[in-house]
Amino acid sequence: MFLNQENLYSLPAKKNKLSFIFRLFMVLLIVTFVIFYQNISLNTSNTAYAEETIIPILAYHNFTTKESSSYKINIVEFEKQMDYLATHNYSVISLSELLKGLRDSQLPPKPIVITIDDGFKSTYTLAYPVLKKYNFPATLFIYTNFIEKNNGSLTWEEIREMTKNNIEIGSHTLSHCNLLKYKKNENYETYLARIRREIFLSKEILESKIGSKVKFFAYPYGAYSPIIKNLVIQAGYEGIVNANSMNNTLNAHPFSLNRQIIFGQSSFNSFIQVLNQRPFNISQIFPYDGIIENNQFIKIGAILEGDNYDVKTLSMKLGGAKVKFDFNPKNREISFTPDSLKPLIKKSYIVNITALDKNSQHQRKISWLITIK
Ligand SMILES: [Zn+2]
Repeated sequence: MFLNQENLYSLPAKKNKLSFIFRLFMVLLIVTFVIFYQNISLNTSNTAYAEETIIPILAYHNFTTKESSSYKINIVEFEKQMDYLATHNYSVISLSELLKGLRDSQLPPKPIVITIDDGFKSTYTLAYPVLKKYNFPATLFIYTNFIEKNNGSLTWEEIREMTKNNIEIGSHTLSHCNLLKYKKNENYETYLARIRREIFLSKEILESKIGSKVKFFAYPYGAYSPIIKNLVIQAGYEGIVNANSMNNTLNAHPFSLNRQIIFGQSSFNSFIQVLNQRPFNISQIFPYDGIIENNQFIKIGAILEGDNYDVKTLSMKLGGAKVKFDFNPKNREISFTPDSLKPLIKKSYIVNITALDKNSQHQRKISWLITIK
């Protein structure tokens, strides 16, 4: 048998060429489709992420022209942060505007609130000029015993001047005491009378000194319990800020507004991370926020809803220290139970649960306070 080599090879070669082109076409079609589809799903999930309105409330303390430290931020760094908010179209609003916005379910795009605690002189000499430059409102939380105490503290005159220029004043008690702690020889009645004074009298003093209503309260050290919270409400405050380091949503309650403490030594990148951080969708936390608990072995955790977070990046911290947690993928319960040899010590803990968002790589976080008595 003699077969024409040309025939033998050229025909299938032609066929091969055709099927190659066809296959190439199909592959390209599939690739295009996959890219297109991924883009759609990526875009929608990113949009969904962006559409979740979040309201960061930033908390600063002291400012310096020298090097930053934990509660003291270099003023150039602070200005850089304010400039970022201005150039990235954040709507810096006051706490009053936030409360009104939450009531009416109407907030400007990218809302954010600035607060400054304690009443350091540098609030007036360093931060205030920067806030004025950007026309940003802010709320100062002042503990009244500190005012005019030494040359590191604000004067009443400075406070009054600031209130005429977009600055609101809130109470941070009289003495900046931890409202959860009993003094020596105190019983429940004397303790209650003392913390009541801290909450009620500070409001009265501030109101008489600045001549307008004081609507907001900030817990010193972020320490509270249901009893303390009720006293603040009884005193007539309209909003309370804590130090649970997560952002607020449109469902935020005026008496449980979370704040992000901006530490002096943390990086600019972590500042931007804070602005983009979203809360987890949760259906439950245990034990409840603000609890005073006797059981030093209590199970602590949350049920995380949805699947918009990357399970591999889940992390849980108690009072700033990482703990070994359990995660049940079936009911999405994340929890930590203290080891029988290592009970929780008697103090307050901020519980933090974090993970990266699946689609955006920004952080999801939930944060609340428990106290072991
Ligand atoms: Zn403070």
